[in-house]
Amino acid sequence: MTAIKEPSFRESVDLMFNRAAALMDLPPGLEEKIRVCNATYTVRFGVRLRGQIHTFTGYRSVHSEHMEPVKGGIRYAMAVNQDEVEALAALMTYKCALVEAPFGGSKGGLRIDPRKYEEHELEQITRRFAYELAKRDLINPSQNVPAPDMGTGEREMAWMADQYARMNTTDINARACVTGKPLNAGGISGRVEATGRGIQYALREFFRHPDDVKKAGMSGSLDGKRVIVQGLGNVGYHAAKFLSEEDGSLVVGIIERDGAIYNPEGIDVEAVHQWIVKHGGVNGYPDATHTAEGTAVLEEDCDILIPAALEGVINLSNAERIKAPLIIEAANGPVTAGADEVLRKKGTVIIPDMYANAGGVTVSYFEWVKNLSHIRFGRMQRRQEEARHELIVKELERLDRYLGDAWSMSPDFKAKYLKGADELELVRSGLDDTMRIAYQAMSEVWHDRDDVDDLRTAAYIVSIDRVAKSYRAKGL
Ligand code: GLU
Repeated sequence: MTAIKEPSFRESVDLMFNRAAALMDLPPGLEEKIRVCNATYTVRFGVRLRGQIHTFTGYRSVHSEHMEPVKGGIRYAMAVNQDEVEALAALMTYKCALVEAPFGGSKGGLRIDPRKYEEHELEQITRRFAYELAKRDLINPSQNVPAPDMGTGEREMAWMADQYARMNTTDINARACVTGKPLNAGGISGRVEATGRGIQYALREFFRHPDDVKKAGMSGSLDGKRVIVQGLGNVGYHAAKFLSEEDGSLVVGIIERDGAIYNPEGIDVEAVHQWIVKHGGVNGYPDATHTAEGTAVLEEDCDILIPAALEGVINLSNAERIKAPLIIEAANGPVTAGADEVLRKKGTVIIPDMYANAGGVTVSYFEWVKNLSHIRFGRMQRRQEEARHELIVKELERLDRYLGDAWSMSPDFKAKYLKGADELELVRSGLDDTMRIAYQAMSEVWHDRDDVDDLRTAAYIVSIDRVAKSYRAKGL
């Protein structure tokens, strides 16, 4: 047993930041300026429910305003506290910088167990929270743009957007005040699954770099790789589903609140998802072995471990026993600074949170741009693109006739080529491009610098450098 005390989440993020900053040549004082959270607002408000007043505590922390608006989700959970919100806000700053989303970092939270409330009660609570934040410009299309996080989703974002619009009746850009809204309330196609999709694109990009794959002691592609995922919420579910259905990976373990299920032959992610919707947990799922002590499955044999639930789940108490050679942090902060050190020494490759789960904020960025431009992506050019493609297809058909048996078009070429891209395809293409480019920036630092031996430090270096450049451009 180790005697070292586990730092708090906030301290953990700072330690990781410091590790990278120590390798950089920042002007005196700038390091400190970037590291600290600019402001954290705490609000306590009362809502009358079931005949009595309930008092709730919420936070919105702004880490860095080197770019505005600042961006980041709002989570609903009992564990929400200032330290956590500040750590998450800091991660948003670095995440946005890494994927070149033009935002500063922010995060919010409400201390609540949403499962204990009826929908209409949650609406009342959410609207009141949104009112408190909007009143102080902590929800605002040009200053602070929240999004979903743990315990919140499209429904909450729609309530918040509507609350803001009621308070700002002449703001033509009101819809851009939050992202992650449902499609009919100004959302964008592909936002719900964006973080999970981003995990898939991140892993695909990782496996396009054989040298990096080798560092994790693996070879080949995602096909056949054994995956364990912790948390089958929005992020974990989509990541596991896409990897198993589209990339040939084998999901062998799923860890949930009520234990874990394991099957070395592979688990049908969609079937488990349906099971959870119906039964509230994984217990009793027929085609796998259930273990009540779920977190023990983090230590099972696999190729890729995807912690997609809470922060701090891989810590000093279990890091030594983690067998996965590759961890992709779908959650924010699932590996503590102490565990990170242990894993680094063991040679485990970690694809860090600020990159891995950036798919959500990337598509949020697209949604915000869509809201500000007041037009769906692809609306102007889709049919024109199709008309131009048709010209080529017609020419090819002419050639086809001319060449007779010597050549013919592939059977589905025409249909595939003719189709202009719709919003969802454009969103996916933008996300894919973002994940590739950000990976390359990170990986380059990892390879080029002898003093950088992990992707997390590389990611911090890229991000801190970009934030520092913005501050310098502002004259700081
Ligand atoms: N809550 C998500 C995150 O942690 C999304 C933030 C956003 O879309 O602004 O990245």
